[in-house]
Amino acid sequence: MKTVRLILGDQLNQNHSWFDEVNDNVIYLMAEMRQETDYVKHHIQKVIAFFLAMRNFKDELSAKGHQFIYFSLTDANNPQQLEEIITKTIKESNAKKFEYQLPDEYRLDEQLNNICKSLPIATSYADTEHFYTTRFELRDFFKGKKQMIMESFYRMMRKKHDILINNDQPEGGKWNYDQSNRNKWKGQPSIPHEKDFKKNVEEIIEELSKAKVKTFGNVDPTAFSWPVTKVDALSTLTYFCDQLLPHFGDYQDAMHEDQKFLFHSRLSFAMNSKILSPKEVISRVTAHYHKNREVIHISQVEGFIRQILGWREYMRGIYWKEMPRYKGLNVLENKNKLPHFFWTGKTNMNCLKHAIGQSLDHSYAHHIQRLMIIGNFALLTQMDPDEVDQWYLGVYIDAIEWVEITNTRGMSQFADGGIVATKPYVSSANYINKMSNYCSKCSYNHTKKLGDKACPFNSLYWNFLADKKAHFKNNQRMKMMLSLLDKMDGSVLADIQLKANDLMKNLDEL
Ligand SMILES: Cc1cc2nc3c(=O)[nH]c(=O)nc-3n(C[C@H](O)[C@H](O)[C@H](O)COP(=O)(O)OP(=O)(O)OC[C@H]3O[C@@H](n4cnc5c(N)ncnc54)[C@H](O)[C@@H]3O)c2cc1C
Ligand code: SF4
Repeated sequence: MKTVRLILGDQLNQNHSWFDEVNDNVIYLMAEMRQETDYVKHHIQKVIAFFLAMRNFKDELSAKGHQFIYFSLTDANNPQQLEEIITKTIKESNAKKFEYQLPDEYRLDEQLNNICKSLPIATSYADTEHFYTTRFELRDFFKGKKQMIMESFYRMMRKKHDILINNDQPEGGKWNYDQSNRNKWKGQPSIPHEKDFKKNVEEIIEELSKAKVKTFGNVDPTAFSWPVTKVDALSTLTYFCDQLLPHFGDYQDAMHEDQKFLFHSRLSFAMNSKILSPKEVISRVTAHYHKNREVIHISQVEGFIRQILGWREYMRGIYWKEMPRYKGLNVLENKNKLPHFFWTGKTNMNCLKHAIGQSLDHSYAHHIQRLMIIGNFALLTQMDPDEVDQWYLGVYIDAIEWVEITNTRGMSQFADGGIVATKPYVSSANYINKMSNYCSKCSYNHTKKLGDKACPFNSLYWNFLADKKAHFKNNQRMKMMLSLLDKMDGSVLADIQLKANDLMKNLDEL
């Protein structure tokens, strides 16, 4: 009796128990589809990375004896839509059973549920065996509690999975070293040359262009640099442990004009496509730390583990707890449209020029650039969260809805009213100047609120607080910001608001 097993493009887990044994009665089905290239306009590097990773996955498992049916994007017989691809494969292989792994996106989960209802054969699903938590573990953990706090979830995860724990207590004596993870990078310690793979991707670019797939962003056709095989992903992890981990925590929040990646791991694509599992990453990093305690401080390692064991699992849990209503949340009622420079990087605001520019060039910006430069600007200019989500979902190599929307609509845009973040992440130029060297080379003046050369972040910040004050009146964490606003001279505030509104009407001129 033949079984067809579907593997989606972000389910490239070679260690899945499905592959423990070769079974001649199982056909694995994979497909590059227009359904996936077109649901949002993606960065060209993102499409290339997923398709290359899928092809490599199929090649590596075929070499081990597993049977595959693989539809390439340009195959003449590729129906391009998931339902047609599944029904065609079942019919042609005369399969009697259909199995799939639970998708991480709500839209695909619903689609597969519906497809299974309409199939005339037996169907079943399996876990992806990727995450530490199950879909609803976070929901159950917070059941009956008034507020969800990442820190309490994270401590539970550390204990439950025995990660950096000694006798039930956190290794090093503290659960969280966030306070020591906030240094500005001033040229030292030196940053090792970036890990890159310089792959030639001309052929796949040609295929995408033939198929007229609409993408945006830039790519160097002869030097594609993302890990798209298990071997490349593992070597990126080794490189991170050897070269970057010793300073990861210290400079986690730093930004610099000449350093796109600083000490960040760039492992998010490999993890989100499931080439690497979070367990593989965490166990490698903790083992490396335990062998090198004399040169690596616990704060560097804890800072890294918190992102994966804490934030990554937390965002997934929030997604499944809150979807589908989460996708429509816009509690601050923001309605503005993104300016054109989000697609060109052409602006005089030096911080945005760099953060957006590198997003377009590399399909990557690190967390603080996403949150405190681009996201901060989008929130202060009161952009429609639908527009902001579409941009983030398209531009980043690691953007898959479960982790994109919770970070963007939730953490960055506060459109969920505080489900993810306890207060909006907004700042004036002061924070940006503290954490980067952007302001020193900018044509705007980071110390000024008013006047032609005043940094737009300053008037936009106070205007945002004044405009949205009512939403935050019961938020204890906003008390200090709002009391500063209340103390501001009325006529100065009026001038600031006038200026901010003028800027918002002319964003493309900034
Ligand atoms: C507005 C906004 C949008 C974002 N969109 C995405 C997205 O679409 N996909 C995505 O994977 N991450 C997203 N993030 C989180 C984070 O910015 C990226 O995971 C990180 O920049 C990836 O680069 P890295 O692998 O070098 O990360 P590192 O800084 O080296 O961190 C290590 C790993 O920790 C995990 N991680 C860190 N922060 C988060 C977080 N907030 N949520 C979930 N995982 C985290 C990632 O898996 C990352 O690879 C977003 C953050 C913001 C503020
Ligand atoms: S002055 Fe303002 S616009 Fe310029 S880099 Fe600093 S924060 Fe950005």
